[in-house]
Amino acid sequence: MPRKVLLLPAVACLSLCLFAQSGIFDGKTWWEHVKVLADDKLEGRDTGSPGLRQAEAYVVEQLRTNGIEPAGKDGYYQPVKFVSRQLVEKDCSAALVRDGKAQPLTLGDDIIFSTRIDLAPEVEAPLVFVGYGLTVPEKNYDDFAGQDLKGKVAVVLSGSPAEIPGALASHYQTAGERWKALHHAGAIGIIGIPNPASMDMPWSRIALNRNHVSMELADPVFDETSCEQLSMVFNPARADLLFAGTGHTFAELAALGKDRKPLPHFVLPLSIRARAKMERKDVESANVVAKLAGSDPVLKKEYVVLSAHIDHIGIGEPVNGDRIYNGAMDNGSGSALLLDVAASLKQHPEKLKRSLLFVFVTGEEKGLLGSKYFTQYPTVDPNSMVADINVDMFLPIIPLKRLTVFGLAESDLGELAREAAQARGVAVQADPEPQRNLFIRSDQYNFIRHGIPALAMSIAPDPSSPEQQKLIKDWRTNRYHAPSDDTAQPVDLSAAAQYEEIVRGLMVRIANDDRRPEWNSDSFFRRYASKGPGEKKGM
Ligand SMILES: [Zn+2]
Repeated sequence: MPRKVLLLPAVACLSLCLFAQSGIFDGKTWWEHVKVLADDKLEGRDTGSPGLRQAEAYVVEQLRTNGIEPAGKDGYYQPVKFVSRQLVEKDCSAALVRDGKAQPLTLGDDIIFSTRIDLAPEVEAPLVFVGYGLTVPEKNYDDFAGQDLKGKVAVVLSGSPAEIPGALASHYQTAGERWKALHHAGAIGIIGIPNPASMDMPWSRIALNRNHVSMELADPVFDETSCEQLSMVFNPARADLLFAGTGHTFAELAALGKDRKPLPHFVLPLSIRARAKMERKDVESANVVAKLAGSDPVLKKEYVVLSAHIDHIGIGEPVNGDRIYNGAMDNGSGSALLLDVAASLKQHPEKLKRSLLFVFVTGEEKGLLGSKYFTQYPTVDPNSMVADINVDMFLPIIPLKRLTVFGLAESDLGELAREAAQARGVAVQADPEPQRNLFIRSDQYNFIRHGIPALAMSIAPDPSSPEQQKLIKDWRTNRYHAPSDDTAQPVDLSAAAQYEEIVRGLMVRIANDDRRPEWNSDSFFRRYASKGPGEKKGM
């Protein structure tokens, strides 16, 4: 026994030393950047706000100090114009009409309007339940086949059937793709019901901030929902108002959806009557773009992109007396990582063949808008971007032993990410919860749609640790998009440092690889890579 005990420290040291050898990060400088970006003074960094401008000024100053050169349109900045939409709720109403009798709905408690589209002032239309509301030609799947949707509003349950692979299901659930299919089927609008089994946030918090300003890019080339007249979200706890008299209950449908089983389709004996009024304003913001030149005479013309959104949701309804939605993890953490990695390349230079591009995007919280703009109008040659690693809310609140890699099976990047993680003793896994659509819910998706292989990674709980799983789940329920996502929350600095090592390691591998990364031959997203730039217009 004593001998064994004596041996342990030596073994422990050996493995620790192995992984600590080339350790550059300690998590502390990273957290200092997070503290600046998530300070109350920056008021939650809403798109177009003085707080976001201050955050971007800090980023620019840090980049300049560390010798990272400007690569925007106006120095480090790429200006982006938006139009904001805010609901004037006192002039809005909604009701369900059954046999000519209207039953008023309460905004907030029963439904909320989505201002992500240009809501029509008045709509009255019959309702049809169309299951998941998806058309997936690749899988011969069509929820609208045989349905009469002409002039009607489609009611859908969020999620997708098991026969559709995660990435494909995510793609067809984007607002633009979904509207394309609905519009083609003749529908004029949509009412979505979230499945309680995959909701990140409780309804009470969604409803609390329902009148928050939403935005669209001012350039009409980006409009993916023209002709859409109505978009609403129905509170799942009240959804039986829709299903009364149909022989179906919401509980039954939600249970099928949770298991990704087929859903029935049926006409609802109801119409929706809605009145909406919105106020519009012009808003200006900017992406921040910077580069570090590579050393290979040929490959230096190519870029490995590291991206993170720097905006958050600003000031909102108070929760426990706090109105500032600081966005420390979302996504002060990712922006801080870019700064920390950029600084590390000055202190610990690396011979890089390709160049690096650091892209801090605005408008992510408004629907991935800054990255949509950047990828449509990149400030470098569009064909020069060989890969995007996007960092968004990687959650270093538990030790890092396992990473979820979004896009693991889609391109060469998956294997490179696996190697970079394994070099640090970290295992990787594909997205265990594809129904949450995380692959399309951050900025990497816009790079993907322009043919650029991309991925994102987040720290995953140990499947055999209920405690870790609970920590992550509680974080989503209580802190995600809440004022308590601030710098008073617990953080695991060594997990953050490890994560930074992996991102830096991955970036270096991509920058120095002889070949540029490619989509896997069986990846659905490969199609975007084969399109010429002209065909990508108007996506
Ligand atoms: Zn967010």
